[in-house]
Formats: sequence, C-alpha cells, structure tokens
Amino acid sequence: MGYIFLLNLLFFLTASTLHAQGLLDALSGGKARVIDLTYPLNSKNAFWPGESYNSFKHEVLASLEKDRVYSGKYSTPEHLGTHMDAPAHFEPNQPTIDKIPLEDLVGPAVVIDVSLKAEANPDYRLKVEDVAEWEKKHGTIPQGAIVLLYTGWGRRWEDYDRYKNADKNGALHFPGFSRESALFLADNRQAKALGIDTMSVDYGLSGDFPVHHTFNSRGRWLLENLANLDKLPPTGATLIVAPIKIEGGSGGQARVWALTRE
Ligand SMILES: [Zn+2]
Repeated sequence: MGYIFLLNLLFFLTASTLHAQGLLDALSGGKARVIDLTYPLNSKNAFWPGESYNSFKHEVLASLEKDRVYSGKYSTPEHLGTHMDAPAHFEPNQPTIDKIPLEDLVGPAVVIDVSLKAEANPDYRLKVEDVAEWEKKHGTIPQGAIVLLYTGWGRRWEDYDRYKNADKNGALHFPGFSRESALFLADNRQAKALGIDTMSVDYGLSGDFPVHHTFNSRGRWLLENLANLDKLPPTGATLIVAPIKIEGGSGGQARVWALTRE
C-alpha cells in the first residue's frame, strides 16, 4: 500500500515537474502566453454587500514631490475584488488562507462557458448535464483541476450595481454553480477548486451557500470575481494562484494568472 502510494507520488511529481518545466521553456521561448485573471484593485471593485463591509481604499502617505518617496496605505474587506475563499470561510477546523500549501495553488484549468444561458437567465446555475456536454467535446475533466465557470458577468464589472443585480427587494441575481454540479465536480472529478467571474460561486439568490460548503468542507478553496475568463481556452491552461498571506484570514485578494501554449 505504502509502496504503491510512493510510486504514485513519484509519478505525479515527475509528471507535474516535466509539465511545468515544459511550460516554463515554452514561456521563455515565446511559445506560451500569460493571461492575467485579476482585476486591478480600486474603489470601484465589487465586494460582498454585507453589513460593515466597505469598498477598497487607498491613500497616499508620502509623495515624490513632497517627500521624495512614494508610498501609500490601503484597507479592504478580504472578500473584495479578485479573491480567494479559504476553506475556513464556511467550515470549522479547515485551513485559513495562510495555511494552504503552495503546491496546491498550481493546477490545470478547465473553463465551462454558460454565458449564453446566463444572458437569458441571470439566475442560471451550472447543471451536471452541462458538465457532461462539456466533457463530450473536451474529454473528462482531469483530477485536481481548477474548474472555472465563464458566465459573461465580467461585462458588468465596471458597474457594481449591474454586477450585483439586486432587485427592488434587495435579492441578488447572478449565475453560479448548482449544489449538484459542485458535488459532482468535488467527488466524481476530484476538482481541487472552483472559480467564477461573479461575486460568488453560489448564485445570487442562494441562502445556504451549498457550493461553498461542498468545497470548503473538503478543505478546498474557491476563486471569485475572476477577470478575462473569455480569453482562456476550455482546456490546456495552467493556473497559478498567489493569495495574500493573512494570518488566520478567511480569504483575501489573490493574483491569479494562467499560462497557455500558443
Ligand atoms: Zn469570497
């Protein structure tokens, strides 16, 4: 048992090292592309519209003109802009953002496009059948994938009100993963993480956040408010995620980028 495990581990490490090495070679040879999936932080960034949350603030502390050095300070909720939800966000006894091993923060990305369905229905949730349809075209989602849902919501990014899309009763309307699709991806495909181009992996109307619970209870993390998902191929990209290391944090801003071969 232990021997087989070691052999598997060795195979996995060799395969992933070779893959990463190939990509780095391709990158330095101009044969790979880097796509930034991160929005710049500013006061217009979307954040979860909960009580006592606020927008991103940046102030200048010293300027070159006055002080001959430029520096500033900022404040932000953890769940603002392009960010990660750590496993501790929705579940007890799970790692906070500083405790996620760095090895876990690199992985193959797959992109499922539901933008047409979300355009017709802002409350759309990814179905298990959508995943099956995607796999018919692109093959089975590899184990350990970071599954990204492209809903087209990024087109609303510059307008927080349209991005939140609250109705007159304050209920939010934006698309997301369904409970069933999250369970399928977590357990039948062993996805290591989910990501989305909206404020939440659970759709706007969700009250019990089953997608968050499904992933966080398994010690897995989530990415929200991702940019540029329309520029990624359905398969073949490698994602690199670099979250801020807040000790004991429930989540936080992350620089997320993808490497793809030309
Ligand atoms: Zn979050």
